[in-house]
Amino acid sequence: MNRLPKYCSQCRGVLLFQNYEGRQRPICSECGRVVYLNPVPSVAAILTKDGSVLLVKRNIEPGLGRWGLPGGFIEAGESPKDAAIREVFEETGLHCQPLEVLDACSVLKGYYGDLIVLCYTAEIIDGTLSAGDDADTVEFFEFENLPRLAFRNHVQFLEKFIGRKIIPASYAKTDSK
Ligand SMILES: [Zn+2]
Repeated sequence: MNRLPKYCSQCRGVLLFQNYEGRQRPICSECGRVVYLNPVPSVAAILTKDGSVLLVKRNIEPGLGRWGLPGGFIEAGESPKDAAIREVFEETGLHCQPLEVLDACSVLKGYYGDLIVLCYTAEIIDGTLSAGDDADTVEFFEFENLPRLAFRNHVQFLEKFIGRKIIPASYAKTDSK
């Protein structure tokens, strides 16, 4: 998926990449507007229960049919914490309280272009486990018995969380970002 804009949102003129302020940036050929491209902010969450971690089996691309941490894009007007709470509830049916940011990473040139992913640790408050948006199945997995994960950054978040390499490298081999 190519997220680069082709047309000016102000005047619909064609955008052309030109050097401006030390970088190639899209500039409108009609009105001269400079378009600044930024990574899209998103969140992921690590929720655990009895030493197992909650994963969702994705029913959409990227990572269709594979497992990942619950999460998604931060909406306009929403804090990262609120996005984590909302995404976890939408995908898993659980209400959670984000505790702290475990890590942050960039995904470059991925399915949705460039992303910033904030990974929260979160505590489950209540709710009934049920697969919702973007998820086929939701399930807790022991760290010693994780399925193949869709995204390399989720592998890295989980490894940081438990402080050791737990997943064979082959799990991340077909990373689709
Ligand atoms: Zn324009």
